Amino acid sequence: MNLPRFTYHSPGSLKECIAMLSDQKDQKNGTQVIAGGSDLLVRMKLRLETPGRLVSLSDIPALKDITYLPGKGLTIGAGVALSALASDAVIQEKCPALADAAALVATNQIRTVATVGGNILQNTRCRYYNRSPVWGKAVAPCFKRNGAVCHVVPRGKRCFAVYQGDLAPLLIALNATVTTVSKKDAEEVSVESLYSGDGKTPFNDMAGRIATAFTIPEDSLTMQVAYRKYRLRGGIDFPLAGVAASLKLHNGLVEDLRLCLTGVASCPVPVKGAGETAKGKPLSRDVAREAAKLAYAAAHPLANLEGDPVTRRSMIRIMTEDILIKAVDSIKAVDSR
Ligand SMILES: Cc1cc2nc3c(=O)[nH]c(=O)nc-3n(C[C@H](O)[C@H](O)[C@H](O)COP(=O)(O)OP(=O)(O)OC[C@H]3O[C@@H](n4cnc5c(N)ncnc54)[C@H](O)[C@@H]3O)c2cc1C
Ligand code: SF4
Repeated sequence: MNLPRFTYHSPGSLKECIAMLSDQKDQKNGTQVIAGGSDLLVRMKLRLETPGRLVSLSDIPALKDITYLPGKGLTIGAGVALSALASDAVIQEKCPALADAAALVATNQIRTVATVGGNILQNTRCRYYNRSPVWGKAVAPCFKRNGAVCHVVPRGKRCFAVYQGDLAPLLIALNATVTTVSKKDAEEVSVESLYSGDGKTPFNDMAGRIATAFTIPEDSLTMQVAYRKYRLRGGIDFPLAGVAASLKLHNGLVEDLRLCLTGVASCPVPVKGAGETAKGKPLSRDVAREAAKLAYAAAHPLANLEGDPVTRRSMIRIMTEDILIKAVDSIKAVDSR
């Protein structure tokens, strides 16, 4: 499919980029930021978005840094490519699970261009929406196409398109923050607060803003972290369900446990109560099963992606239990040495 017409600009500084983004006058169909383009260009080909001007972040070196500062934590530029994230020595030392999760996104070719910022800010997806204009005509326009119906939840009052990013659940389980800048200000907020929970407009307050960096605080870097994803084809697909877990033990007892899901709602879903249920107990198979039950209860996949929602929900329970039982087994292995 062809791309719609647009002009392309690649400024060398963040300042120029923000100026172009905030100057929408004379811009037919508006201006949009493009990073690797692996999400946006596909949407443009499907005519889901048709910005008249694209402003690229590719030539801004400051967005491509990865730094570790003792006491502050790990800061990852929004423009870091996923292939660079997966192979970076600092990431592999300080947060190997993040490198592993990046290596599970899409394919080698896509990871070479796709960025961390684009991954976190990718749009939601639905089989009734991610279609060409011709196939789109087969169904009445739904909420996400500015209609007044949802084909997935016919009595629903909102869009239930699914957020399928692989990195967001990990960053949320690690209490990470994002720094964003606009013409007016710069602010640092939690990654979790970016998401609105509405499939139609999945992000809060990102109009006119650019994400510049993500920071994982120092105390999260001491946690055991893991991510598992369920997909149809291991070599390319989006997660149909995914679980990130971060775990801190003190004297053999659980001090903190955070779980966050992806692929099962319009935003990443932190599992409420997982930490409270496990806190103060030795990490055991029973604790793992209890936490997995909570994750299952928090997941509400619908029939708007490939794969059956019952299986996707069960996979959340199975993957959560699997991550935590592996942690139990690794503790036992250390104890028996
Ligand atoms: C075949 C295929 C398979 C895929 N598989 C996966 C998968 O397994 N897991 C997964 O998570 N994703 C997957 N994706 C989606 C996508 O490729 C990745 O999420 C990728 O990381 C997006 O990054 P990008 O830099 O290409 O984003 P872009 O396409 O450039 O941008 C995506 C969105 O984010 C906005 N944006 C980008 N950077 C910034 C910024 N710094 N500040 C503000 N806004 C910004 C853009 O305006 C756009 O709206 C897949 C895509 C394809 C085509
Ligand atoms: S969930 Fe419903 S409203 Fe949202 S894109 Fe799918 S069909 Fe449209």
